Amino acid sequence: MAANLLDGTSVANAIKQEVAEEVAELSKQGLKPGLAAVIVGHDPASQRYVANKVKTCEQLGLYSEKIALPETTTTEELLVVVNDLNRRDEIDGILVQTPLPRQIDSDLVLKSVDPAKDVDGFHPVNVGRLALNEDGLRPCTPAGIMEMLERYNINLSGANAVVLGRSRIVGLPMSLLLLHKNATVTICHSRTKDLAAVTSQADILVAAIGRMAMVEAQHIKPGAVVVDVGMNEVKTAEDFERLYGDNPKRRSAFEKNGYTLVGDVNPRQAMQVASYFTPVPGGVGPLTIAMLMKNTLKAMKLRRGR
Ligand code: NDP
Repeated sequence: MAANLLDGTSVANAIKQEVAEEVAELSKQGLKPGLAAVIVGHDPASQRYVANKVKTCEQLGLYSEKIALPETTTTEELLVVVNDLNRRDEIDGILVQTPLPRQIDSDLVLKSVDPAKDVDGFHPVNVGRLALNEDGLRPCTPAGIMEMLERYNINLSGANAVVLGRSRIVGLPMSLLLLHKNATVTICHSRTKDLAAVTSQADILVAAIGRMAMVEAQHIKPGAVVVDVGMNEVKTAEDFERLYGDNPKRRSAFEKNGYTLVGDVNPRQAMQVASYFTPVPGGVGPLTIAMLMKNTLKAMKLRRGR
């Protein structure tokens, strides 16, 4: 039997709707959550992400501000911008879009964001709060995955969860969030020996490695819930045939655009083995922006004592 799809788009829409309703309530009291997005340079993907974030703020009634700085910006100049945003009361959330140009000390900049406004959840204070399961701002992608699993009533307590990848943005916080929901968590990474032996024990498998369709049937326990965080471009006809050869809708998109997206999981094989699976696109991706909005609202409530 084919796996059920975990529809990230509809979960994201539900989250955004809830945020919009709360923002509308707050506006009656003259309050408006505000997000500042700082972008340095001209990376087209980063430009797209930031434009999308600003647009979503507008749709939901949040105040937003885009601060675009030149490619040549220094660490010191960026720190001045961040400190200014830290001081401004109408700004509840600050995000500094990464990757930053090479001359900038990214770590220093991310640590200079006021933890109370750190809507990406990357500041060590928020990472510490997450580790200790204290209230705080959580990284958007793993937090969104948790919302999705909860809304689909996926049981986590006592489940074997395997997280593939240990990045600060996805894998590490994901594993902590699952742990705090009482899953038995194993983290895999590039040094893990016999990956399939570990991942095939997982009731919940989260793949966040950035390797095109690397997770195949032998990695997946029959009936597992598989969450695919990866976003990779399929560009060659050979890869396309292997991954989507039987999918006419994808074929027309591939032929039109010259590429299509695939996650870190082989979708055909996951659909045959898993019980639930997140599509790419339309799975994890939409949740990230929705959670950024929710985090901005949360930051406002925490900061302004609401
Ligand atoms: P990183 O490159 O920061 O981390 C990748 C992780 O995967 C590392 O921990 C690495 O191990 C591990 N890894 C790499 N290759 C292997 C392998 N062959 N076997 C086992 N583990 C491996 O990536 P991110 O966490 O930032 O992103 C992962 C994916 O998720 C990417 O495709 C990215 O585009 C996507 N993404 C999607 C988002 C969304 O909103 N949908 C948001 C964020 C990311 P090690 O630590 O040992 O190097």
